Amino acid sequence: MESLPTVILKPGEADRIVAGHPWVYHTSILRMTAQAGDGEMVQVKDHRQRLIGVGFFNSKSKIHVRVLAPERVEVDQAFFEERIRAALAVRKRHLPSATSFRVVNAESDFLSGLIVDKYEDVLVLQISALGMEKRKDKIVAALRKIFSPRVIVERSDMASRKFEGMVEANGFLHGELNGPVTVNLNGLKFETDLVGGHKTGMYLDQQTSYQAVAQFAKGAQVLDCFSFLGGFGLHAARAGAAHVHLLDQSAGAVAASLRNAEANGLKSHVAAEAVNVFDWLKANTLVKPHERVVPRFDLVVLDPPSFTRNRASVPDALRGYKEIHLRALKLLRPGGALATFCCSHHVDSGTFQDVILSAAFDCRRVLRRVATYSQSLDHPVIPMIPETEYLKGFVFEVVR
Ligand code: SAH
Repeated sequence: MESLPTVILKPGEADRIVAGHPWVYHTSILRMTAQAGDGEMVQVKDHRQRLIGVGFFNSKSKIHVRVLAPERVEVDQAFFEERIRAALAVRKRHLPSATSFRVVNAESDFLSGLIVDKYEDVLVLQISALGMEKRKDKIVAALRKIFSPRVIVERSDMASRKFEGMVEANGFLHGELNGPVTVNLNGLKFETDLVGGHKTGMYLDQQTSYQAVAQFAKGAQVLDCFSFLGGFGLHAARAGAAHVHLLDQSAGAVAASLRNAEANGLKSHVAAEAVNVFDWLKANTLVKPHERVVPRFDLVVLDPPSFTRNRASVPDALRGYKEIHLRALKLLRPGGALATFCCSHHVDSGTFQDVILSAAFDCRRVLRRVATYSQSLDHPVIPMIPETEYLKGFVFEVVR
């Protein structure tokens, strides 16, 4: 093997990498022994010249090196095959009956910069690191060998690509799709636009929680806020909800969720509105002085998008979370349940719960916490890599 350019770390910077975190920031680097090409392999050593790993170099990114392995490896098709098969084995173990799931979740699967989702016989690829981009043909070859997919879609249309010096990319890497794909989650069918929809198509990270929250739905009047394709609402309807009301500001998502209700034989129990949830909750909790809001729901689901992009916007985000919780609690009957989620990495579960309790205080509700959730196990949490943990959820019952 030819020798690789060496990145030498400043004293004290190696431990985090040795512990399993793959990002070497440019500020951690003492010096380099030779100039490395962007997207090429380098070796990383501590300031005493001990090898701590090899990975992709990119001078354009704040993350100068994305470490792939603690020892020297050849990053060829066989490497990707081995890593992807290892990731797949984790999903088979933890989600044995799922047919659609995230196969590779970047850092969570020791493939920083690569996401692969499986939607039945279609794979969706998302690449956010130049080193992966340069080896896309090897990744595609490995995926075709393991899965024999009908289609491979590329959805590398994230603004973050510019931080790696790449432009956004969209298209087909194998085969072609014309129209939506029917995705099966927990035995329910969801019509999904894998070419132009949200993220890579669906929020697969909620697959387990859809089932879990549905346990609170039997006989209930359900309000599903930020419903997208109806994930929570349709699981609730199948579990025996009396009625489910879906709210999402996207008219396209609302129309798709109603088609999904029909396709699953749940149409008579489901209604949907294309509205801004903040406006709807406000309009439905506004009363004249001396009047009370009449609570009319037994289960309210709040699964908003992340209100934060960075640490600086956390205070604004918390105000947004508090507002929707306050109004949702006013609409809940005593004994009813609030299922609430926060997908921002910058808001930890303690802070999130504090906001909910502060909303409960303001409307004089007492809550009992009856469930705590995280992302589905196809989005593995590696505690040594804090960025891999982002989704948290709770169910609170209204005691009074
Ligand atoms: N619960 C969904 C995921 C929600 S993602 C699921 O499990 O699939 C967030 C959704 O909120 C998106 O569908 C987006 O269109 C919608 N959205 C974002 N801001 C909104 C707002 N202010 N009012 C209503 N919907 C909103």
